[in-house]
Parts: sequence; structure tokens; C-alpha cells
Amino acid sequence: MSPGSRAAGFARLFLDLALPPRCACCRGPVADPGTLCAACWSELDFIVEPLCGGCGRPFAFEAEAESLCGACMARRPAYDRARSALIYRGNARDLVHRFKFRDETGLAPLLTAWAREAGAALLRDADWIAPVPLHWMRLYRRRYNQSALLAGRLAARQGAAFAPDMLRRIRRTRPQTELGRRARGRNVAGAFRVAPRWQDRVRGAHVVIVDDVLTTGATLEACARVLRRSGAARVDVLTVARVDSPEQA
Ligand SMILES: [Zn+2]
Ligand SMILES: [Zn+2]
Repeated sequence: MSPGSRAAGFARLFLDLALPPRCACCRGPVADPGTLCAACWSELDFIVEPLCGGCGRPFAFEAEAESLCGACMARRPAYDRARSALIYRGNARDLVHRFKFRDETGLAPLLTAWAREAGAALLRDADWIAPVPLHWMRLYRRRYNQSALLAGRLAARQGAAFAPDMLRRIRRTRPQTELGRRARGRNVAGAFRVAPRWQDRVRGAHVVIVDDVLTTGATLEACARVLRRSGAARVDVLTVARVDSPEQA
């Protein structure tokens, strides 16, 4: 480290100590760094039980644990369980968006902590924690894979191992946000595969796939399908946020 960069490091440390901590949403003052002020916090919709035992959609009425919603009863998703910390709107949407597209990787600890809590049951006996991959061209442009940042942090605190290159995106796809529900399924069909060197380790394993948001679930569904085909015993999905109902996507 050069003397100059060391001085810059000290200057930054000094600024961190000297400046009061700011709310991650509105930048207003807060007591502890990496948190939200009370007003921004109260606007978040944390997902709590009762929820669908399959896709994790919150129920508006009381339901027995592990009951399934109508959509999961009609057709079980390729994954076993999906869990998310927050409904994707308002401040939650804003935070995820900044984390994903605006280089605000400093939000990773906060978002990971929420996902860890929502996914505690999934993470407990996971063998591997794998992020949804970006196509290498998109990774090159964005410089980081937001899902890998989350997955790596989740794995670091868990008995599970981080599997950043388990899933590969073998075909470039259009951003799902540009497409309607049906087109999303077609867009990602055949876009993923399990990397050859992972085939043996996937067989019989419990894999948790991590992404920032679940919208229609088409991307996560496509990832789960290839893991199943490779013999994974259990495939769960964990995201920071999800849309309330797929129609909202
Ligand atoms: Zn705030
Ligand atoms: Zn469901």
C-alpha cells in the first residue's frame, strides 16, 4: 500500500467516525450505521406468517403451516420453498434498485441480514448457497453480480458453502422487467445450466438459490429445474424481496 493510499484510508476512517450515521433510505440521521430511520423502517412491508409453504406468498388470512396457495396447488414450482424478507415496493424497491444498478454495494450487509432472517429455516440445513448468475457480458458491464454478493455473505455465516459458479447463464436473455409474464418463462427457458464440475456435488444436495427479487419466479424456476435435473435433493429459493402477487410484476 502506498503512503498516499494509506493516508486516504485514514482520512476515510476519520470521516466515518466524524460523520453521524445516516439512514440508508432518506440519508437522515440515525443512531447506528447501516440502519434505517424509524419513518423509513415503518414503511417497509416485512413478510410474516401466514404464507404459502411453497412460493412464500403472504396470505391475507389465517392458514395452517405449510399450506399451499392456489397457484402452487395447481402447479408446484420446480423449487421446494421460496422465502423473501420484504414486499417489493416503496423503500424496499428503492434499496434493491440502488444495490443492483447504482453500485451501492454498501447496502449488502443490511439486505443480507433481512434475507438471513427470512430464510433461517432454508439456510439451516443447506449444503450449497448459489447465486443466480449474470451472463458474462452483463457482469462485465455491471462489474458485480448483486446476487453473488448476497449469497457470499449468507454462506459466510452458515455451515453451507458458497457456490458462486454452480449455475451458469449460457444464453443472453432480455431483462425480465421488459417482458410480460408468459414471455418471461420463454425468455429464460434453457438459459441456465449446472457447470460440469459441479454435477457430482449437486447430486443429492440441498441447494439454496439466492437472488435479489422474485417477480414471476421464472428465472428462479429455470435455475431450480436444472438443479433438479442434475439430481439435487432439495432446491430452495431465497430473495431479499418479492412482488406481492405475480400479477403485480
Ligand atoms: Zn430514513
Ligand atoms: Zn404458493
